[in-house]
Amino acid sequence: MFLPKNHFTQGAGFSNLEYGLMAEYLGKSHIASEATNCAAPDTGNMEVFAKYGTQEQKDMWLKPLLAGEMRSAFLMTEPDVASSDATNIELRIERQGDEYVLNGSKWWSSGAGDPRCKIYIVMGKSDPNNSSLYKQQSVIFVPADTPGITIKRMLSVFGFDDAPHGHGHLIFENVRVPASNMCLGEGRGFEVIQGRLGPGRIHHAMRSIGAAEKALEYFLARMNDPRKKPFGKQLFEHGIMLERVAHSRIEIDSCRLTVLNAALMIDSKDAKFALKEIAEAKVLIPDMLLKVLDRAIQAYGGAGVCQDTPLANMWAHGRTMRIVDGPDEVHLVQLGRNENKRGKWLLEKIEWQKKKSEEMARSYGFEKKDVLELNRQHSKAKL
Ligand SMILES: Cc1cc2nc3c(=O)[nH]c(=O)nc-3n(C[C@H](O)[C@H](O)[C@H](O)COP(=O)(O)OP(=O)(O)OC[C@H]3O[C@@H](n4cnc5c(N)ncnc54)[C@H](O)[C@@H]3O)c2cc1C
Repeated sequence: MFLPKNHFTQGAGFSNLEYGLMAEYLGKSHIASEATNCAAPDTGNMEVFAKYGTQEQKDMWLKPLLAGEMRSAFLMTEPDVASSDATNIELRIERQGDEYVLNGSKWWSSGAGDPRCKIYIVMGKSDPNNSSLYKQQSVIFVPADTPGITIKRMLSVFGFDDAPHGHGHLIFENVRVPASNMCLGEGRGFEVIQGRLGPGRIHHAMRSIGAAEKALEYFLARMNDPRKKPFGKQLFEHGIMLERVAHSRIEIDSCRLTVLNAALMIDSKDAKFALKEIAEAKVLIPDMLLKVLDRAIQAYGGAGVCQDTPLANMWAHGRTMRIVDGPDEVHLVQLGRNENKRGKWLLEKIEWQKKKSEEMARSYGFEKKDVLELNRQHSKAKL
């Protein structure tokens, strides 16, 4: 469903916009994305195989992934470096004869805990001395059962283990794979990860609209629970709660338009063309989801933070969205930098407008004056 029809032949024939509308419904459920084979990180990984894989690689890994027969993980982030800047990635990929040898460690390898996870897409450094920081990296396909890989431990998210999917901390010690497992070619890792995270960056955002709707549904249900009457009134009789509902409705509806707009922009050309709209959705929607969830949790009181509603788990998951696929700051800096490209031109334009209005005023015989200018002195300075 998620492979858009105008960019891939392997999908079900929907556009990003159509998938966006469906993903909202998937986002209301904990299991629907996986049940429809539209769950991260498999979605992004299937895009990598579809976009960059050789026919042999596609037959080996894309086909069973599309058929839902196996799962996959994407291994970029490392425990010892700031991985939001992928030039820092250190896992070493060295060519030895007909093989590549991998040494290093990875963490936050989502999906690696699942026994059905059969393939890792691994980013590492193949040419540390290349003068271009963006050509030092490669992406390579590593079967999960390759000798030398240890799943050291699983990481929890605010105490949730996210099993069976899980987030692994993995060690690679002399892990050998055939040279034919290289993706696209040595030194082209950045190309691959940039291509992978196009529409994938807004899949979370699309689902988050559904999650926010679900949070609002829980909020409304709690407000109308006749058993719970703080200070003699049901929650819907407390104006502050209605205001929170109204804000939630406004924010969800405007965020839906933002994410669908990003989908439409990708459909109209490609993900690169929609860079701004993708970044807007990537930052805005998790922030909205957390606000709506927070209001719903508050309405439930103690019940909101425990296992009796799905809200606490949803909040934990939602909070990670401000970090995964690049933290907010990276997208904000990029957005700000691109927006600021107009800054010099705007300064010149405004200066030109000022000059022009002064010239026009003079030509009509007006003297431009600040009507609030007083130049009032209480007394003359003693010289
Ligand atoms: C639940 C979960 C699932 C994940 N799944 C995967 C996965 O499947 N595969 C994978 O490879 N990774 C995965 N990640 C890792 C995630 O992508 C990284 O955590 C993220 O890219 C940030 O990298 P880092 O943790 O190394 O933080 P750092 O790079 O150390 O950044 C730390 C903080 O520095 C700040 N910062 C960064 N850049 C800037 C900037 N330009 N300006 C100002 N401040 C900045 C931000 O506040 C950022 O949060 C997952 C993470 C979580 C929490």
